[in-house]
Amino acid sequence: MSLFKITFLAFLSVVSSEFLWKHHNNEELQLVLEEIHEKCPNVTRVYALTEPSVRNVPLYVIEFSDSPGFHQPYKPEVKYVGNIHGNEVLGRELLLGLADYLCNQYLNHDRRIRTLIHNTRIHLLPAMNPDGWQLSTDTGAQDYLIGRNNNHSVDLNRNFPDLDAITFEFERQGISHNNHLLKDLTRLAAPLEPETRAVMRWMMAVPFVLSAALHGGDLVANYPYDESRSGAPVSEYSASPDDDTFRELAMTYAEAHADMADPKRTGCPVSNTDSSTSYNFGKQGGVTNGAAWYSLKGGMQDFSYLATNAFEVTLELGCKKYPPAEELEREWHRNREALLEFISKAHVGVKGIVSDDSGFIQNAIISVVNITGPVPRPIRHDVTTAAYGDYYRLLTPGHYEVTASHPGYFPVSRVVTVPHHQTVAKILNFKLEPTTSWFDDYTTFGLYPYGLRDGQPRIYKRSIYEQVTNMFLDKKETPKQ
Ligand SMILES: [Zn+2]
Repeated sequence: MSLFKITFLAFLSVVSSEFLWKHHNNEELQLVLEEIHEKCPNVTRVYALTEPSVRNVPLYVIEFSDSPGFHQPYKPEVKYVGNIHGNEVLGRELLLGLADYLCNQYLNHDRRIRTLIHNTRIHLLPAMNPDGWQLSTDTGAQDYLIGRNNNHSVDLNRNFPDLDAITFEFERQGISHNNHLLKDLTRLAAPLEPETRAVMRWMMAVPFVLSAALHGGDLVANYPYDESRSGAPVSEYSASPDDDTFRELAMTYAEAHADMADPKRTGCPVSNTDSSTSYNFGKQGGVTNGAAWYSLKGGMQDFSYLATNAFEVTLELGCKKYPPAEELEREWHRNREALLEFISKAHVGVKGIVSDDSGFIQNAIISVVNITGPVPRPIRHDVTTAAYGDYYRLLTPGHYEVTASHPGYFPVSRVVTVPHHQTVAKILNFKLEPTTSWFDDYTTFGLYPYGLRDGQPRIYKRSIYEQVTNMFLDKKETPKQ
């Protein structure tokens, strides 16, 4: 090969790996992710969700981890979902830019990014609604409504099963069951769209701890619940059991953003045609409870919290839903620190492994009482252990009593102090004693004889919740009414 050829090829590879701030179409989106993977093959993986969009566009995800493709105990999983509303496009480009940045900084030996990738498994889904993006882009990229929905004219952020109604009903009846509520759903209000189904299966398959959905049209970090308890359409604060933690998660983004939390900035214009401005969320720190703003049913955020272990917030990234390409790089600089800081919040609170003499216990329940003040306050939202018996319980600084329980075992409680400024969650492991001899547990013994005899961990390939969801998704796709 001539020197010219080598130089030319080297030049080409440099050019092709240069990330450009522009609006990437659906084919370019895939190419960008694949190029990043080629640049950082050891710490990335590109995969598509189980189902494509209505118009058959695959929903691509790029994953960053030092063990791509595998969940590891003690390593929390985080996701960002962009472009749920097809005409809200900033999140889509920011996630592509974030992927490029993580890869480059990893290669540049940036210690912060290396630590983040070694300790966290990060999944980025730049576009949940590629069909809406296409329509919005083809019709001038200006309209505040066209392209919002998917190709069946369904708003994907209203299409998730309404689990708020179930948890509110359980609250009224004094029923303590407060998590993984999908199996308590008896019917769907509307058929699930393919994009919704794909994301639901993803949520159930990966033990996510922390998540954010990226939207546009205002500048605020919105946290659960999105749905009001009374049915009021606006202005009713709808606190979840984890209100303190959610406020802190939302504030983390707002305060690390260039001006989301700035009380002096102006609010967004009410609409394209109306130059008057709406409320400036900067006056309340750049955050809002969802229902205190306006109530919505079937959103992804509340579904995440009530169907899985993931704590999810909704980020409104700016007044313009479809900002011009020349503003994208500036927006990246305004959001970069916030995007990174938010991911690092997967490392607050406590984490650990629940096991018995023979191995890990999957689906053990972790319940928490806040004992910081004079009166103990139970946080009525339990999390469960993943395939390696591992759990992640995001908490604000304070004192807590944490209890691990599982049918067939004596529950164990431990007291823990969650410090300020955590870079890694406090580790709190639990060893449970069975209430009966393990010889009685014949079915388990029969299924995993070598595992028990050799003291090897009991590893289940798929979680019970995933199995339940798949059953649910397969059987109940059409509403009964
Ligand atoms: Zn939106």
